[in-house]
Amino acid sequence: MKLYNTLTHQKDEFVPNEPGKVSMYTCGPTVYHFAHIGNLRTYIMEDILDRYLRYSGYEVKRVMNITDVGHLTSDADEGEDKMLKGAKREKKTVMEIAQFYTDAFFEDCKKLNIKKPEVVAPATQCIGEFIKVIKKLIEKDYAYEAGGNIYFDTSKLRQYYVFHNFEEEDLQDGVREGVEKDDNKRNKADFVLWFTKSKFDDQELKWNSPWGVGYPGWHIECSCISMKHLGERLDIHCGGIDNAFPHHTNEIAQSEAYLGHKWCNWWMHVLHLNTNSGKMSKSSGEFLTVSLLESKGYDPLAYRYFCLQSHYRKSLVFTYENLDNATAAFEKLIARIASLDPNDGTVDSEKFESLKAGFVEAMDNDLNTSLAITALYDVLKADANGATKLALIENFDTVLCLDLMAKAAKKREEDAVANADPEVIAKIEALIAERAEAKKERNFARADEIRAILTDMGVILIDTKEGTKYKFA
Ligand code: AMP
Ligand code: ZN
Repeated sequence: MKLYNTLTHQKDEFVPNEPGKVSMYTCGPTVYHFAHIGNLRTYIMEDILDRYLRYSGYEVKRVMNITDVGHLTSDADEGEDKMLKGAKREKKTVMEIAQFYTDAFFEDCKKLNIKKPEVVAPATQCIGEFIKVIKKLIEKDYAYEAGGNIYFDTSKLRQYYVFHNFEEEDLQDGVREGVEKDDNKRNKADFVLWFTKSKFDDQELKWNSPWGVGYPGWHIECSCISMKHLGERLDIHCGGIDNAFPHHTNEIAQSEAYLGHKWCNWWMHVLHLNTNSGKMSKSSGEFLTVSLLESKGYDPLAYRYFCLQSHYRKSLVFTYENLDNATAAFEKLIARIASLDPNDGTVDSEKFESLKAGFVEAMDNDLNTSLAITALYDVLKADANGATKLALIENFDTVLCLDLMAKAAKKREEDAVANADPEVIAKIEALIAERAEAKKERNFARADEIRAILTDMGVILIDTKEGTKYKFA
């Protein structure tokens, strides 16, 4: 399997540290607001990587942090704490909004079939780990105290800008625009490991540390949480492209300074989802969430399909027109799958393997989901029986996770009802009404009799809170 690595700037053959096992770390959400669908593009594509590794036979252990402290409005060390800003906005405590938006995040993930990682670790529960690592960085002379804060000294590294050869001056404009210069820093690129001298004294969450009462910087949390759960050598670290600098660059600096050796081999970055007017935002323009899409009648999995239609290393533009097109294509795909007959033959293993090869080839090539979907259409077009085609679709969908089989089965049922003789439908509905009446009168013998008549007619009853529904067997 070839996977693009931001460290080497090329697609490399993926080889984990330990044969057959993969350790994977994902930067989790900052839980000060709902996730927008751009954030969720990143999580969908990371989910695809996780699932494809498992599909390829690897045992995967995945860890995700929850950022509930330390992430400032600038990704560098300036601005206001995003959590505090969220708490003020909603007149709640930081921990209340952290819990609310963590739950909301996983609800969104569920709707998009994004699997929950094996370990989910809120930063506020790992303070001891952060202090341990910062202490050692000071001992090793990689960190210093200035003006009450603890800073990482980037001048001690052989190479700080690992992903790109940034010009420091460009960085100042690009990343730290509009924020004050921190005079405590010995070098412009230095970053905070521990804050005590807060610009915002109303910071709610503070902890004791050897350097005074304070709170951790954002970058240290991912290094520590990853090392705690996945050890000293990490296979893959993922995030959106905006995380590459300064967040991941700082993670590498502090982790490798602490460990004294290389830490993570693979860096996977997902390009952004943008709107026509540019960057996706939670504060300006329409705040695009999964719930908003649902309220407009979109199936969240149509959004997943929309994301899978393009490669994760290309930026993607969201418009309702694009989503409408994806939705139409998704519905057409489901209708085509629904038209396959599961009772048409048995699985032809030779055809199965040769058609599966197209999917594997696409996914092995740096997770080319767009070509993987083409491979799915190749199955539909292939000269093979229904059973073989459906087995392949079910197999591919363990990675794509678009609920293709369940949606096709539902469509088949709906079509059966829609295509049934109106006289038969009227008879079924009359019998269902009579059964409900019989049950009301506690005449269970008659109710059972009616059920038996309907079963003979090939009708399966489904009792729900909203009344009895039915489908054809
Ligand atoms: P945050 O909650 O801001 O920490 O971001 C969560 C994840 O979403 C991170 O991996 C970001 O890199 C990623 N992200 C932020 N904006 C976008 C976007 N417009 N498109 C794709 N991913 C994004
Ligand atoms: Zn992170």
